Formats: sequence, C-alpha cells, structure tokens
Amino acid sequence: MFDIAIIGAGAIGTAIARVLSKYQLNTIILEKDNDVSGGTTKANSAIIHAGYDAPYDSNKGIFNVKGNAMFDEWCKDLDVPFKRIGSLVVAHNDEELETLKELKENGDRLGVPNLEIISGDKVKAMEPNLREDIIAALYAPSAGIIEPWELAIACAENAIENGVELRLNYDVKAIEQHEDHFRIFSDVEDVEAKLIINAAGVYADQLYKMVNENPEFSIHPRRGQYYLLDKEVGTFVNHVIFPTPTKLGKGTLVTPTVDGNILVGPDSEDLEECKKESVNTTYDRLAKVKELAIGITDKVPYGMNITTFAGLRAEPSTGDFIIEESSVVPGFINVAGIKSPGLSSAPAIAVYVGELVGTIMAGLVEKADYNPVRRPKLKFEHLSAEEKAALIKENPAYGRIICRCEMITEGEIVDAIHRSAGGRTVNGIKRRVRPGAGRCQGGFCGPRVMEILARELKCDMEDVLQENKGSYVLSGHTKA
Ligand SMILES: Cc1cc2nc3c(=O)[nH]c(=O)nc-3n(C[C@H](O)[C@H](O)[C@H](O)COP(=O)(O)OP(=O)(O)OC[C@H]3O[C@@H](n4cnc5c(N)ncnc54)[C@H](O)[C@@H]3O)c2cc1C
Repeated sequence: MFDIAIIGAGAIGTAIARVLSKYQLNTIILEKDNDVSGGTTKANSAIIHAGYDAPYDSNKGIFNVKGNAMFDEWCKDLDVPFKRIGSLVVAHNDEELETLKELKENGDRLGVPNLEIISGDKVKAMEPNLREDIIAALYAPSAGIIEPWELAIACAENAIENGVELRLNYDVKAIEQHEDHFRIFSDVEDVEAKLIINAAGVYADQLYKMVNENPEFSIHPRRGQYYLLDKEVGTFVNHVIFPTPTKLGKGTLVTPTVDGNILVGPDSEDLEECKKESVNTTYDRLAKVKELAIGITDKVPYGMNITTFAGLRAEPSTGDFIIEESSVVPGFINVAGIKSPGLSSAPAIAVYVGELVGTIMAGLVEKADYNPVRRPKLKFEHLSAEEKAALIKENPAYGRIICRCEMITEGEIVDAIHRSAGGRTVNGIKRRVRPGAGRCQGGFCGPRVMEILARELKCDMEDVLQENKGSYVLSGHTKA
C-alpha cells in the first residue's frame, strides 16, 4: 500500500511529488498518458507571471506571488531553463491607464516586487516594435519565461531520484473508498493508497466524481491557440507584452520563449465540458489571435511562423484554484481548476499541499538523504571546443548531430531516453532535448530520432509513437 497516490503528472502533480519526496513517504504518481507533462503543461504561454492581476484574497493571487519567488532556486536545482525578463502591460488610453493603476495597487498589496508604471516613451525605448499609440505600461520585472514541460519532467525525475514511483499509461477508471485507504482501478493492476491527491487537470472533476457523486465543482475546457515563430525573428520583443486585461483574462500576448522563439497567443474559447482532448488548432481562431495581437503590435512577421498549437485551460466553476481536502471524502485532496497562473504557482501549491498532507498524517519525517538537485542535462552546443572534443572521444554519439536546426547530438537523445523519467516518443524527445523544435519541425531529424528510439527501447520502428497511444508514424515497410 502506498501512503500517497498522486493522479496526474503535469506541472502540479510532479511539483507535489517532488515536495513529498523529501519525506519518509511511499508515494506513487499515476498518469494516463505515456509521458509526464502531456496535458495542459505542454501547451501554454510559459510565463512565470509576476502576480499583480488575481484578486488580493484569491488562491490564484496568493500562490502566484509566492510561487514566482521560488523559481530561481527550483530552476537552479532542477536544471530548468528560466529567465526573469520582466513583463509589460500596455495601455492605449486613459481608461486602460486607470486599469494599470488598479493592477499596480493590487500587485503592491499582494507583495509583487518593484512594480512601476512607465511612460509611452520609455515603453518605445524598451520595445521598438510595439504600436506607436501606447501611452503607458505596467512594468513587472519579476515576470519570467520557462520551459513548462521541462519543469514537470525535471520535478518527476528529481522525485523519482528521491524514491517516488512513476506509473505511466495508468488511466484511473474508478476509485473505491475504504475505511482507511482508497483502491484505485485502471485497465492494469489496482493500486492502494492511504491518501489521494487529485491533480488531473481538466479531468479533475471526473476524478472527484469517482468518490463523490455530487462534486462541489466542475471543470470545463477553455482553449487557447498560438503561433510560434522561427528563432530568425530574433529579439522582436524583449519582455512579455500583455494588453490591458479584461474580464475574460490576461489577453493575447507577444513574448520571447526561453529557447529564443517568439510566441503569439492565446485566444480564449470556451468548449463544451466533454471536449477535454480538443487541442487542435483552427483557422478561424488563429485568425482571431492575429486580430487580438494587433492591440500590441502590427509588425508580427507571421511569415516566419514554424508551428501552431493549442492548450486547454482547466476552467473551474468556482473561478479560483481549488486546493483542499474534500469535506465529504476524507483523505481525498483536490488540487483542481489550476488554470493560469497555475504554472507560476506550482512550487507554492506543492509546498502548501505538502503541509496539508503533514496535517492529515499528523506530521511528516524528513529523509536524511533527500537531494533537491536533479542530475543536470549535458547541452553539447553550450560546451567549449575542447570540452566537445573530450566528450566525443569518451562517447562518439556526442559527435553525431541529429537535429541540425537545434544542434542536438545523438548522445543527448540517448540520455533523454534513459533518464529516470525518460522520453519514449518522438514528441517526448523533442520536449526534452529539442530535436524537431526548430525550423524544419522534425522534417530532417524525425526519422533519425525514431531509429534511435527503436534501437534504445528495443522495439520495431513501426511501434515508435509520435505522441499518445495510437499515434503511429509508420504503417509498415515499403515493397513489403
Ligand atoms: C492557453 C493557456 C495558457 C496558459 N498560460 C500560462 C502561463 O503563461 N503561466 C502560467 O502560470 N500558467 C499558464 N497556464 C496554466 C498552466 O498551463 C496550468 O495551470 C498547468 O499546466 C496545470 O498543470 P496541471 O498539472 O494541473 O494539469 P495538466 O498538465 O493537464 O496535468 C494533468 C495530468 O493528469 C492526467 N490525467 C487526467 N486524467 C487522468 C486519469 N483518469 N488517470 C491518470 N491521469 C490522468 C493528464 O493526462 C495530465 O497529464 C496556461 C494554460 C493554458 C491552457
């Protein structure tokens, strides 16, 4: 029997696993997909928000500001790319300027550091590609950008290195409540655990329904679509640029990514409650993104677009993050409705959930050998010529460049497969070490990555998947 079963291996479930791995607990993560970070965590704006916009007394407000402050240490220990580049919320008229003042006041109250309203001239000097009619901006230097999927992968790896078990392809289908534990059912073997942490993203309401016929909340998917521009676009913007927010949310932003691309999006589209897998992009909504981004800049070079994608916000009926033990099902902790700024809040939510577990279990004992530092990844491109030569001599796989756009070697791909939460699919490898993330989007390196996956996983190339269950790339041999 496990002490804790965490359902869902997104940014939230894995961050909680990492925090709990510090203690003498027997913890398991159950994930329906074949990889960690396959849900909303892999498709979002990747901003670590400063935290000035959520209401002062909301969970979103509290956890965002606390979480933001934790990112330097977490990302250093976990070897996750993170840059504090700062954000600007731009205003075009007096009415929007009033909103900026309200945001600043709210942010100051929440403890967001160094917020400042700056003039249109200063905005122009900082960001020459923005619209001429911008009269002011709220500058938040603590905002940052990150690789969101890498945060979840790194948390999972670090948790596993500290004793947590990760079970992929484990789709929780039913949960039975017993006097002092839960029995969890899927298509494979059952799992028993004393406590359950429900971190199932857009599915968190369905998970809760398995133990409570009348859940106090529901979650519906709200889709957001994006353009990702080629690195050639360069420093089109240097900060995260938001429009003045409306009741619908933070609005469509333009931002650099931590890997050097430019991201434009998202829009906001409410989907029916059942459409929890609808991460396709659509022509009309991508056109809407362009229309919305015009409020910030009319110079986006969309001809340099390399891909589009969509993510689903887990929109809770309560409007705020739900982070509590169920009042009707003791031992069942909901961490639900974690929409934006969920990524920014993840470390703080995880620490809070750790404290909640400690209260429920009447105290936790720390492990003597807990290590918060994840084994770092070797980035061949960042090495000096001498270091590269020495590495290739030691392991010739580092001398074979597989992805020419991103300069990724076979050695890095092999390592990504064999790490504790290693990638098992073409996209899983792309998320970890970026072959296929560049301009050609895998056109050249895709087949080579498949060959390496098949060789390392000892399977046929036809069995290698692009992403989720059933996403086969090859149908068989030609002339067979
Ligand atoms: C368009 C968009 C933009 C965003 N931008 C930002 C941003 O810039 N900054 C920010 O802070 N936040 C942002 N967010 C929010 C952020 O992405 C989320 O808060 C965060 O990724 C949520 O993580 P999660 O772990 O709760 O959910 P997920 O990543 O969805 O993880 C849930 C996991 O549970 C698994 N699961 C579900 N059902 C089952 C089951 N039955 N059995 C087993 N496993 C199951 C899923 O497969 C999934 O892997 C954005 C979200 C969207 C959609």
